[in-house]
Amino acid sequence: MSRSSPFHPRRSALSTAAPVDRSRVLDTLVNNLAGMAYRCVDDARWTLRFVSHGCLELTGYAPAELVDSDGISWEELTFAEDRMRVRAGIRAAVAVGRRFSVQYRIVTRDGTIKWVIERGIAVADEAGAPVIEGFVEDVTRLHETMEALEQAELRYRHIFEHASEGIFQTTRDGRYLAANPALARIYGYATPEELIADLADIEHQLYVNDSRRDEFRRLLEANDEVINFESEVFRRDGSRIWISENAHVVHGPAGEFLCYEGTVQDITERRNYQEQLERQANHDLLTGLPNRNLLGDRLEQSIMRAERLGYFLAVVFLDLDNFKFVNDSLGHAAGDRLLVEIAGRLRHCLRSADTVARLGGDEFVLLLNDHYRISSIIAVLERVLVDVGRAVVLDGREFQVGASLGVALHPQDGDDAESLLKHADVAMYAAKNRGRNNFQFFTRELNQMAEERLNLESALRAALEQEEFDVHFQAKVDHRRRIVGAEALARWHHASLGTVSPDRFIPIAEDNGLNVPLSHLILRRAIAAAAAWAPLHDRPVRVAVNLSPKLFLADDLVGRVATLLREAGLPPERVELEITESVLLGDSERAVRILSEFKELGVALALDDFGTGYSSLSYLRRLPVDIIKIDRSLVTGIERDEEVAMIARAVISLGQSLRKTVVAEGVEDAAQFDFLRYQGCNEFQGYLLARPLPADDFAALLERSGGQL
Ligand code: C2E
Ligand code: CA
Ligand code: CA
Repeated sequence: MSRSSPFHPRRSALSTAAPVDRSRVLDTLVNNLAGMAYRCVDDARWTLRFVSHGCLELTGYAPAELVDSDGISWEELTFAEDRMRVRAGIRAAVAVGRRFSVQYRIVTRDGTIKWVIERGIAVADEAGAPVIEGFVEDVTRLHETMEALEQAELRYRHIFEHASEGIFQTTRDGRYLAANPALARIYGYATPEELIADLADIEHQLYVNDSRRDEFRRLLEANDEVINFESEVFRRDGSRIWISENAHVVHGPAGEFLCYEGTVQDITERRNYQEQLERQANHDLLTGLPNRNLLGDRLEQSIMRAERLGYFLAVVFLDLDNFKFVNDSLGHAAGDRLLVEIAGRLRHCLRSADTVARLGGDEFVLLLNDHYRISSIIAVLERVLVDVGRAVVLDGREFQVGASLGVALHPQDGDDAESLLKHADVAMYAAKNRGRNNFQFFTRELNQMAEERLNLESALRAALEQEEFDVHFQAKVDHRRRIVGAEALARWHHASLGTVSPDRFIPIAEDNGLNVPLSHLILRRAIAAAAAWAPLHDRPVRVAVNLSPKLFLADDLVGRVATLLREAGLPPERVELEITESVLLGDSERAVRILSEFKELGVALALDDFGTGYSSLSYLRRLPVDIIKIDRSLVTGIERDEEVAMIARAVISLGQSLRKTVVAEGVEDAAQFDFLRYQGCNEFQGYLLARPLPADDFAALLERSGGQL
């Protein structure tokens, strides 16, 4: 045997003090190793010269059956498909004098297939002839395990490569060890390699909010895992997405830290959807403003803040004036656009710490925080009025809407959300009653008025059924104080409330739809009364009836008036209808059309309360009205205020130049009468001449005076 043979280790390897029977040691070793030691000839059959006892266990054949056998050869034992590969492997090593190691299958005696590993080397035998010596080991179990591992690895790799979730391993300090294609895709990279190369500092490059990585790490270190950790991150192109991470710490066998490992899901869509839902729950869809829900929260916060800081908090209830006209006449789409426009203006008027909420319809609530002077609140309110009052262009036309604002202050007008809102609402109604486009603060008196208003509302319903209404007539005279007509004024005598002023009950009737039956009642009475007045000489005595804008724009008014006239036998030219400019605020074309229809019918039209409110004198030209009534406030101010007198003069001369009949109302003294007559006013009405009188009294007055007051 060669000294380099594996069966013949060098002496030094086994050296001990006592002499060793080397061949015995070798025999023991060789025959007790699991496996088969061999010597063979590199011939076609791989003729075996020697095999160890292990041969039996390995192949099922006894050594004698294989060694120098004509029966079965190693060549034949070798699995047919592997033979060429094994021979090539061994030959290649032999050619350069190297050790070889090949794995292949053998077929054992009972036909089972085993995986073996054969390691060997070419040597010269005792006679100097070339042989191969080596060792063949059964590695079937190992092979199976490896294969299983490989397959498992393959499977995991598949999951890793094809998962729709991003998968990562990172170091503690935020560098990637591994990333899968999904992660690359989520973060906007073409490949994982690109991602790993580019995203070298997760903490600062990835998270929109730097502190997220700290938080992530803190949770991982505390719990060894994080679940559904949601953060906003930057993609490669700088866009932002929301992700949810699940991760855990990976430890080595000795419990040492290896890495963080986890998954990433892109939840941007879900998040957007959630946000959308939240927005929908808390915001008004049309204007995007906070809704009643969110207002409640904000108001609570504002109250707490006001209590803490000791500032005023103003809760402002805002209701648009004349919004319904726009909505009813131009349609909801235009109404919506108007609301969106107003919402924008309101937001613009306030500071970012303040809140504008929309309660629905044309109702808004403003929360003005941190004011320490009432005057600064007033300044904001004035700005709101101006801004809301600016013209809005809808369908190519300009519209003006004002707003009525009611203000409740914390702490004096209430210290909880409910009472503040309620009181602001009450104050808003007061603003409406003050003639709109103004603001009112809440006071105790206002509160009482609101309660009274509620009482009035129910009383009004009952009154309509019982026809507790009456119409009084107030004379109108010409410059020679001859009666030319009378204005019909509604009167309500209530059993316990006494006489209620139309200024109070007409707006209430308007709000709850009672104005329609009420107005029909008044029209009928007024026309019936006028039919009974005998014309004086050549002058007919005309009756003037007030019509609310809402009613005026209602569908069948012209037809109804025509019918009433016919039934009463009253010529149309004996009737005047008094309307206010606000009928023109909505669909002014429609208003003009109705005006024209009335003209055609033959009734006269008067523009009431002229010189107040929105008055723009320019549109007067194209309106088919016959009469303008100068508002009482202008008449009252004539003597006291030079500016008012100027306006009155201007209105009169404008009316004259447009060939309208100019009527002054509220004339209480001779000085006013003289001034107005001098300026060229055509007709006059007021306590100086006559108070409003019951129908019979007015008829009596006509006869008694012969038409001269
Ligand atoms: P208006 O149309 O401006 O009516 C004139 C108001 O001034 C009446 O008040 C009248 O009594 C009052 N008045 C007349 N002369 C004088 C005067 O010399 N000095 C003062 N201080 N006041 C004078 P009234 O009857 O209380 O009506 C108030 C408002 O109620 C009316 O203002 C009108 O807008 C509304 N109204 C009255 N009747 C009706 C009606 O039948 N239908 C509608 N839609 N509104 C009505
Ligand atoms: Ca009137
Ligand atoms: Ca008037």
